[in-house]
Amino acid sequence: MRRRNRAVLLTRLYHDGPLSRQELTGATGLSAASVSNLVGEMLEQGLVEEAGAVDSDGGRPRTLLRVRPGYGYLVGVDVGETRVRVELFDLAMSGLAKADYPIESARPAPDTVVRHVLAGLDAVTASAGVPHDALLGVGIGVPGVVEQGESAVVHAQTLGWEAVPLEAMLRAGTGARLYFDNGAKTLGRAEMWFGAGRGARHVVIALVGSGVGAAVLTDGVSYRGVSSSASEWGHTTIVYGGRRCRCGAEGCLEAYVGAEAVLDRWRVARRGRAVPGPDEESGIAALVAGAERSESAARVLEETAGYLGAGIANLINLFNPERIVLGGWAGLALGHQLLPRIREVAAAHALRHPYGQASIELCRLGPDAVSVGAATLPVAQLLSEGGTR
Ligand SMILES: [Zn+2]
Repeated sequence: MRRRNRAVLLTRLYHDGPLSRQELTGATGLSAASVSNLVGEMLEQGLVEEAGAVDSDGGRPRTLLRVRPGYGYLVGVDVGETRVRVELFDLAMSGLAKADYPIESARPAPDTVVRHVLAGLDAVTASAGVPHDALLGVGIGVPGVVEQGESAVVHAQTLGWEAVPLEAMLRAGTGARLYFDNGAKTLGRAEMWFGAGRGARHVVIALVGSGVGAAVLTDGVSYRGVSSSASEWGHTTIVYGGRRCRCGAEGCLEAYVGAEAVLDRWRVARRGRAVPGPDEESGIAALVAGAERSESAARVLEETAGYLGAGIANLINLFNPERIVLGGWAGLALGHQLLPRIREVAAAHALRHPYGQASIELCRLGPDAVSVGAATLPVAQLLSEGGTR
C-alpha cells in the first residue's frame, strides 16, 4: 500500500512537477498527512527535492517539489538502420553524453551490435563522469520483435536476426539493469511522454523510415499480443499480390511507403533512371522538392499519400484511437507536404464515426527520440516501484 501510494505520488511529480504538497493531495486523492509523510521519506532519500515556492492566498508560501534529476542516470540505446546510438540522461531526461557507431552492413551481426552498445556504455559514462552503479538502467530500442521473458530475445527478420539472445549477450559485459523494446515502440513512448501524444489516452504512433512500424498505446501501455509482435503495421497487406516486401511476403504496406520502396517506385516511374542523391534521405528530399516540376515525382507522392492514408484508415478502424501521430524520418519528410492529402484519403477509407474521433498529427520529437524513449523504460520501472528499490 505504501509502495503503491509512493508510486502514485512519484509518477504525478515526474510528469507534472514541480507541484506543492497541496496540489499533490488534490491530484492523487491521498490524505494530506499521507502525502506529507511519503514526501518526507522521498526528500530524505534524495529522490525528490524542493524547487522554489509559490505564494498561496494570504497564507505561507507553498514549497514546490520535483523529482531530483541527479538521483540516478539512464542510458538509452537506439539500434537503428544505419548506426547504434548510446545516450546518457539524468532523470529529467537532459542528455549528458552521446556516442554513435555507424553500422556498415544492412544485416549487421548481433556480435557487432553488442560490441557497440558496450563500448558506448563505457564511453558515455566516462565522458560524463557517472559511475556505473549510479545507472538506474539501460533501455535498448531494437528493430523487429522483442520477445520478453526470463531474458529478452530479438527476432528481426529484415536484419536476418532469428531468435538472437541479445539480453544474455549483453549480460556478459554489464551488470546494469537492462530493458528492451522495439525501436518504434520506444519512439512512441517518447512521443507519449514528451511530444505529440502528451495528454491523450488512446494513441497510435505510426513510424515510417526505411521500415514501417506502429505502437498502439492505451494509458501509456502498448498493445503487445502473445509474443510482442503486435502492431507490425508495415507488414499488413495493402495490395493483395502486390510488390515484394523485405519480409518475403507480397503487398505489405512497407513495400509501398517505406523509404526504400518509395524511391524504388519513383525509379520505376522514371523508366528506370536512378533517383537523385547518394542515400535514401536525400532521395526522399529530392522527391518532395521535385513535385512541382516533375510529373513522375508528383504521381509517386500522390500514390504514397494514398497508401499512407489507407494504412492509417486501417489503424483507425482497428484501434479507434483519439490520436494518430505520424513520424519517423521519412514519415516526417513526406508528412510535412502530404498531411492534408493523407487526412483526405484516411477519411475516405475509415468508418465515419471512429474517423471523427481521431486526429492525425505529426511527431514533434523527430527520429532521434528512439534513444530518449528507450531511456524511459527504466524510468517507468522506477515510477511503478515508487522508488522503493
Ligand atoms: Zn512485409
